[in-house]
Amino acid sequence: MKPVITSMAIYGAALSLSAALSLGAALSLGANLALGAAGASPGPTTTAATAPIAAPKDTAYPGEIRLTVDASDLDRRIVHVHETLSGVGTGSVLLYPKWLPGTHAPEGPLDRLAGLRITAQGAKVSWTRDPVDVYAFRLHAPSGIKSIDIDFDYLSPTSPKVGLLEISRDMLMIEWNELVLYPAGYFARQIPVEASLTLPADWQFGSALEAASASGPKTPFKRVSLETLIDSPVYAGRYAARLDLDPGASVPVHLDLFADRPELLAVKPEQLEAYRNLVRQAYKTFGSHHYAHYDFLYSLSDQIQQNGLEHHQSSEDGSDPEAFTEWNKTAFDRDLLAHEFTHSWNGKFRRPADLWTPNYNVPMQNSLLWVYEGQTQYWGHVLTARSGLWTHSQALDELALVAAYYDVEAGRRWRALDDTTNDEIINPRRPMSWRDWQRFEEYYSEGQLIWLDADTLIRERSQGKRSLDDFARSFFGMDDGSFTTVTFTFDDVVKALNAVEPYDWSAFLRERVGITRPAPLDGLRRGGYKLIYTDTPSDLVKENDEKRKRVNLLYSIGVEIDDKDGTVLQVLWDSAAFKAKLTESSVILAINGAAYDVDVLKDAIRSAKSTKLPIELIVKTGDRFRVLSLEYHDGLRYPHLEREASVPALLDDILAARK
Ligand SMILES: [Zn+2]
Repeated sequence: MKPVITSMAIYGAALSLSAALSLGAALSLGANLALGAAGASPGPTTTAATAPIAAPKDTAYPGEIRLTVDASDLDRRIVHVHETLSGVGTGSVLLYPKWLPGTHAPEGPLDRLAGLRITAQGAKVSWTRDPVDVYAFRLHAPSGIKSIDIDFDYLSPTSPKVGLLEISRDMLMIEWNELVLYPAGYFARQIPVEASLTLPADWQFGSALEAASASGPKTPFKRVSLETLIDSPVYAGRYAARLDLDPGASVPVHLDLFADRPELLAVKPEQLEAYRNLVRQAYKTFGSHHYAHYDFLYSLSDQIQQNGLEHHQSSEDGSDPEAFTEWNKTAFDRDLLAHEFTHSWNGKFRRPADLWTPNYNVPMQNSLLWVYEGQTQYWGHVLTARSGLWTHSQALDELALVAAYYDVEAGRRWRALDDTTNDEIINPRRPMSWRDWQRFEEYYSEGQLIWLDADTLIRERSQGKRSLDDFARSFFGMDDGSFTTVTFTFDDVVKALNAVEPYDWSAFLRERVGITRPAPLDGLRRGGYKLIYTDTPSDLVKENDEKRKRVNLLYSIGVEIDDKDGTVLQVLWDSAAFKAKLTESSVILAINGAAYDVDVLKDAIRSAKSTKLPIELIVKTGDRFRVLSLEYHDGLRYPHLEREASVPALLDDILAARK
């Protein structure tokens, strides 16, 4: 329980070691005085700090990493890493990447590194792990060595119980941060790396990395910085297709598809055209690009994880395997590629100053994720509509779901949006009970509503002359062609908004992110729409429920249910189901005496509208059976957006393709 003292000593930050120790002494003295235990032991005191690990500096690393990765062991999902690292000496510290860009969290999978062996000219070099920072390995090398060889195995998860799957018989994803130890003391951009990758024979791969030569299963890549390597994952597979999203462009953009089965790669011409529109509409919105070439690494798989992770010159996009072949049933998540593409501008090129770190073992701070993720969520939604990947009504139906969730979310009564920017660190996406009371990563979708609020306000105040597009063009579109990250602060955002439309943007933003308040639905109202509930789900909800075998009754009795067996997946805090003490993972066995069936449940909700009788449920929770009385009489309720004729339809203008 002394993290402040130890962590400050390690990173040599503001507090000096002596100051830290004297602070520890003062605390200890104070504690003794408070207890006033005459003659007793003074009690434990702080242990001596461990030796500091060199803070990263922005000078050229006097060596290089030659990284050889073999990812051809598909059966055992073991990836073997061999690394030759020059520029080291006795006392050097090697780091395994901990804080990962895009995940905003200390999620480096250290528990999967095994079989570590370090040698110098064939002789074993011993190492010890730093007792405080377990991601750091101290070398005890004999004097005079300049280069070491490192071997280890990366134990990619063999089952979903261990972690999200990365390797199947037909495809894999290479995350370089999992496959490298790097020297402490230097900015990642100052460490050169030559990497090579061995894949199963006859597989194709996609990456922002460029091959130095192409022959056989082993691909050597051109030398890059460690920063670029870790920002450039590789997707590879047996069944693949590479589609040109910007034919003839000097800055190419490709859709690299990898699928579980070859028939899933059947992309129709109109689907390809919609993704080409996404590139066109992004350029019209941002007026720039910040890459030499861009690759969407798109996996159509239920055999490996469906990832969504941004990079500067590529993105990882995983979706339902039938995303193209069942196009009409998979609209729900179709904003993923637009979201990740937007990140090349917002997040990678422009990045919050406190989120940028010089290497992967300096902690990140997430205070501006409602810009980084929130405005990306906004543009992801807008660009999906502008490109035709969604119809206008699908875009409205998506927005209705977002608005409805925040309309009823109980947790907003105690927790402001900006506090949720810590959630990736507090809980890196583990399952939660009572999620809407805890709140979770609200900077994405509530952030989206705040930016809709800002966009419609700019449009209203400027009488349609200006919009958030102007902000995007000035803020993200600067330095066209450059991919050197430019950081920003809260004040920079306020200044750029003021340049578009003078207003008290500081108060506007602070009020919406910093205090607890009702859901930010002003953007909808100003956009010419209002949130309503009817007894019929939108097509989007219907299709999504069918595809996922789920039943969304969140806005009536307050539950989401697994359609197949009646297992409760979510219960909203303060809903009728909550008050009846229904809990997640309970199974609904019967409704008003009849065996569970989703239609029986819906009929009971409808019928209860005209009676005062409760709906009676028999549920099984673990090995306990219970009879619950559900007091609910408002019928089925599903969210929709309804046009408010007296207000100009600014939202329609926002969602329309730019000419
Ligand atoms: Zn994102």
